[in-house]
Amino acid sequence: MTDVLAVADHRRGELRDVSYEVITAGRQLADDTGGDLHVAVISGTVDKFGEKLNREGVDAVHTVDHGEEFNHDVYTQVLTQLYDDLAPQYVLAPNSVNGLDYAPAVANALDLPIVTDTVGLETDGETLVATREMYGGKVEVTTELEGTAVATIRGAEWSGAEGTGDASIEAFDAEIDEDAVGSTVTGFEEVGGGDVDISEADVLVSVGRGIEEEENLEIIHELADALDATVSSSRPIVDSGWLPKNRQVGQSGKVVTPDVYIAIGISGAVQHVAGMKGSDTIVAINTDPNAPIMDIADYAIHDDLFDVVPALTEEFGG
Ligand SMILES: Cc1cc2nc3c(=O)[nH]c(=O)nc-3n(C[C@H](O)[C@H](O)[C@H](O)COP(=O)(O)OP(=O)(O)OC[C@H]3O[C@@H](n4cnc5c(N)ncnc54)[C@H](O)[C@@H]3O)c2cc1C
Repeated sequence: MTDVLAVADHRRGELRDVSYEVITAGRQLADDTGGDLHVAVISGTVDKFGEKLNREGVDAVHTVDHGEEFNHDVYTQVLTQLYDDLAPQYVLAPNSVNGLDYAPAVANALDLPIVTDTVGLETDGETLVATREMYGGKVEVTTELEGTAVATIRGAEWSGAEGTGDASIEAFDAEIDEDAVGSTVTGFEEVGGGDVDISEADVLVSVGRGIEEEENLEIIHELADALDATVSSSRPIVDSGWLPKNRQVGQSGKVVTPDVYIAIGISGAVQHVAGMKGSDTIVAINTDPNAPIMDIADYAIHDDLFDVVPALTEEFGG
């Protein structure tokens, strides 16, 4: 067994970025083991997804046409059957809401060890060496799994696979035992309401406790409008009920990778940085030059946000 099976993730008719990241992680492992990289996409508009997943480094894409929505039991049955068919060394899934739903069930059904939320994967002979973060990213630990294993990967830790490959795209004819499908997904609702997905935004205007009062958020929304950007925040803003939970960036919020991340009155605690360190360009506006966010910022503006933000809005909105 040397092959790798990577599982794509999709939501509301679109493949999620982590689908291309799991391809990169899978290709690296397949290079280590000298095997092929298989990619599975289950449910959704599988023909469209199959073409998109044919990226450089993919040897085969297996599409399973089974309804539009994610279903725990269907995913678990399909992946155990694909595993029996392909006999991969490793099964990789995104560490997403869906991935964390089915990956443990697949590992359990196949009696395989599982490691979740990995930020690095390599092999040492027959051993999978997985890196994970603990204590809010303050320490890294390695976990070693012997033989065949299941792993989930954290979003934005691997780059997304690019280029078009020459993979075979095959429909996999899974036999679904409908009697064993005990759950039905009737729709998708974003936590906290609204349909904004900050993880898909190109530009994020992110606000922290430095904003002081809920009424002051107005200047943040005005800047976001001027930049055609999306508003996100640190956790205290969500805890105060000033923005819904789906706007929170960080360890207990969302992982984001925008082109530009503007951190306004955010100190840069490890739990926050865990969610935004993959941003291409980080701009920080903070009165404290020693705030940790200033160390990771590409542009650190050491000034009062109540002066800087309106000035930026005027500059970009005018
Ligand atoms: C288990 C756990 C999970 C967590 N998960 C998350 C998470 O997912 N996301 C998250 O964000 N946090 C998370 N936290 C909380 C985290 O530890 C921090 O408390 C939080 O990120 C701090 O938010 P902040 O930067 O907005 O506030 P603060 O740390 O209070 O920083 C406010 C900043 O604003 C600056 N400032 C003040 N006034 C101005 C002004 N007028 N102009 C410019 N700058 C100004 C200050 O200098 C300061 O740097 C978690 C904590 C734990 C324990």
